[in-house]
Amino acid sequence: MSRTISRRSFMTSAAVAGAVATTPSLGHAAVRARPVGPTVAAAGADKPALLGGPPVRSTPFPSWPVVDEREKKALLDVLHSGNWFRGSGQTVTRFEEAWATLTGARHCLATANGTSALFVSLAGLDVGPGDEVILPPYTFVATVNVILLHHALPIFVDSDIETFQIDAGKIEEAVTDRTTALLPVHLGGNACDLDAILGIADRRRVPVLEDACQAHLGEWRGRKLGTLGTAGCFSFQASKNLNSGEGGAILTNDEALAERFYAFHNNSRGRRGGGPGFSYGDRRGANLRLTEFQAGLLLAQMTRLEEQSRTRDENARHLTAQLDEIPGIHPARRHEGCTRNGYHLYMARYQAEEFEGLPRERFLEALRAEGVPCSSGYSPLNKEPFLKTTLESRGYRRIYPPEVLAEWEERTRCPVNDRLCERGVWFGQTMLLGPRQDMDDIAAAIRKVRANAAALAKA
Ligand SMILES: *Cc1c(COP(=O)(O)O)cnc(C)c1O
Repeated sequence: MSRTISRRSFMTSAAVAGAVATTPSLGHAAVRARPVGPTVAAAGADKPALLGGPPVRSTPFPSWPVVDEREKKALLDVLHSGNWFRGSGQTVTRFEEAWATLTGARHCLATANGTSALFVSLAGLDVGPGDEVILPPYTFVATVNVILLHHALPIFVDSDIETFQIDAGKIEEAVTDRTTALLPVHLGGNACDLDAILGIADRRRVPVLEDACQAHLGEWRGRKLGTLGTAGCFSFQASKNLNSGEGGAILTNDEALAERFYAFHNNSRGRRGGGPGFSYGDRRGANLRLTEFQAGLLLAQMTRLEEQSRTRDENARHLTAQLDEIPGIHPARRHEGCTRNGYHLYMARYQAEEFEGLPRERFLEALRAEGVPCSSGYSPLNKEPFLKTTLESRGYRRIYPPEVLAEWEERTRCPVNDRLCERGVWFGQTMLLGPRQDMDDIAAAIRKVRANAAALAKA
């Protein structure tokens, strides 16, 4: 996959796992087909599928979304009620209460999507022009976009190659008196080092906004991700582990902040405010509300979330145990405090040296040919050309001193992340929803490609 293609597929799918799920080797019809079990080994079965042998798997992995009568009823209930927006119905409020209860947060606000959850949160935290926000370079583009939308300066801190998360040991040296928020991400559903990050936030008196858009039901020392910082954001975009097509939510335990979030997402009108006619709060706002239909879908999808999360976790543990036996494939490690991984993505590092020098793209192509969808994951976000054009724009030049803009590129270099991006291998969350045999197939396909690496590298 070329860099251009992977970037385009990220944009069209609006989420990276979409790129995994829409791998060309699995057409729509194939996804709907009934699994019939693994391919029976035949003569020449050890020949790689890419070189004409039979694939390890000819049956699809589980399809997504999972839907039954529950979703149908939820949608029809809203439809027939005639109350399609939160101002006239109660479904969004019911979802907010359910998500707060499940995660253990005091307040929840549903939003139009994960991007708007982050956007609303930064507005509520008063992030604006002239401010700096710290984030990891290994993340979905929305994490940086929301910073730019508030005309703040994104400060990337390098990745930790073992966990794929922000290297918390490098955050404090990036904090300045202009730092207004830390925006760490729980990448793939795995957790960043919250002990270290919350410690820095405490010492330097800056709020932590957790981007938990990939981390539904993930945990840090038994507490749900998205509830440990000042606020935490979720996405319910179609590829995410909880799905309403589009959707998002913010969690916080701070009541005043919750009220600010609400007013910002509701055109500057507070939860209790409003009254007759038009009356507004004292801050700017926008319309970033979730619809009643989406809330109905979320309540229905939530009935399966715990069980699906458990299945992913069990399958992922089984897969990791097998991949740990294969030289050159290194599954992402967990920080000791991560007591549960939300597994939006199963991430690993590929080491071509252990595969006879077989380039990663060729390795991925060979895996796909074996019936195992996969992708190369993110490319370095801190090097995206749109960041430079934004920083060179008229507005940014008016806001920031020339020396701040001039040193930005050097300040946000992330050499470890550059290496990580060259080595990433991803499997999407839906691949973890089937039987354990599916994990054995993934491992078998990798072993097969490795055994034939020299031939594949030459062909
Ligand atoms: C999906 C995602 C978002 C944005 O969510 P949308 O609902 O697509 O707007 C933000 N951050 C991360 C890490 C994500 O994966």
